[in-house]
Amino acid sequence: MHAVAAISQSALAHNLSIVRAQAPHSKIVSMVKANAYGHHLANSKPLLQADLLGVSELSEARQLRQLCDQPILVLSGVYSATDLNEVVELGCHVVIHHPSQITTIANTTQALNVWLKVDTGMHRLGLSADELNSCIQQLAKNPNIHIEAVMSHFACADEPSNAKNLQQISHFSQLDIARFNRSMANSAAILSRPSAHFDYVRPGVMLYGVSPFGKPDESLQPVMQLSAPVLSIKKINAGDQVGYGATWQAEEDTIIAIIGIGYADGYPRHAKNGTPVLINNKLYPLAGRVSMDLICVDIGDALVNIGDKAILWGHPKLRVETIAQYSDTIGYELLTHVSSRVNFIQS
Ligand SMILES: *Cc1c(COP(=O)(O)O)cnc(C)c1O
Repeated sequence: MHAVAAISQSALAHNLSIVRAQAPHSKIVSMVKANAYGHHLANSKPLLQADLLGVSELSEARQLRQLCDQPILVLSGVYSATDLNEVVELGCHVVIHHPSQITTIANTTQALNVWLKVDTGMHRLGLSADELNSCIQQLAKNPNIHIEAVMSHFACADEPSNAKNLQQISHFSQLDIARFNRSMANSAAILSRPSAHFDYVRPGVMLYGVSPFGKPDESLQPVMQLSAPVLSIKKINAGDQVGYGATWQAEEDTIIAIIGIGYADGYPRHAKNGTPVLINNKLYPLAGRVSMDLICVDIGDALVNIGDKAILWGHPKLRVETIAQYSDTIGYELLTHVSSRVNFIQS
């Protein structure tokens, strides 16, 4: 009796096809950083057919290389000669986001594909326009180095009407980079801003069936279904309190189902009273605080049995976006926090 994360292979394939349909003229970098947004790389094979695969760091590229032969884009790039040897060995493309990384790669004697990341207004990783030009000149001296693309990242793509988006596109378009492949779009820009698709798109969260805009998107299919068994059922009386801190009190006589999942599994401790839980195809409200291993649900007078399956998210009737709203976070965080105690299976 334990929590299960079932990863739908057909949903992954479907969501990738939505990216293709939205950006038919762009190549696709499937973003599979953070162990495929918490879905586990080994369960995410349908995504590994994209043109490139994006990870945050070298350790992730190492793990991914066990599973497929596609080129891998390492977003944080290289910081030492040892890193450089390894990216070459693993067949990775590297992002250069700081001028100091040029020194590490400048004299490479092996073929290397480089992506130059430019800061167009997010002010996180990325070269300034001047640094970009000087990097391009320096790299041109080494025939082993090929600049595969120039990329940038949006700060506010999840707010399509935010003026910052057009400012960033305008900044990017003014750079002298038309001779290179260009890449800007994450999921939000793929779905809302065709003018930002350019040559490569970089979908992440939408591949896992989650909308970057916070409200469920019916065209995407949820990939991870998180469920856990009902471990106990008990009748309580009006006025009885449930859980740590006794923060929830029954208004009338009712029945509580106790489910075998808690914050140690990745169910958010900040989920409020009333957060919906799906049992036997009906939604019931969370009652009381989330504990480490358990949650309690008010099922009223419903017939629920020990062993019945409770779905926490990843169902057309209960998507992770809803749980994120009830717990003041985003779907990205919930998906990446599902812990190793949960049994991951493919469905
Ligand atoms: C994570 C990431 C993406 C994907 O973002 P989503 O919002 O999940 O689509 C794209 N580009 C870069 C540089 C990233 O780090």
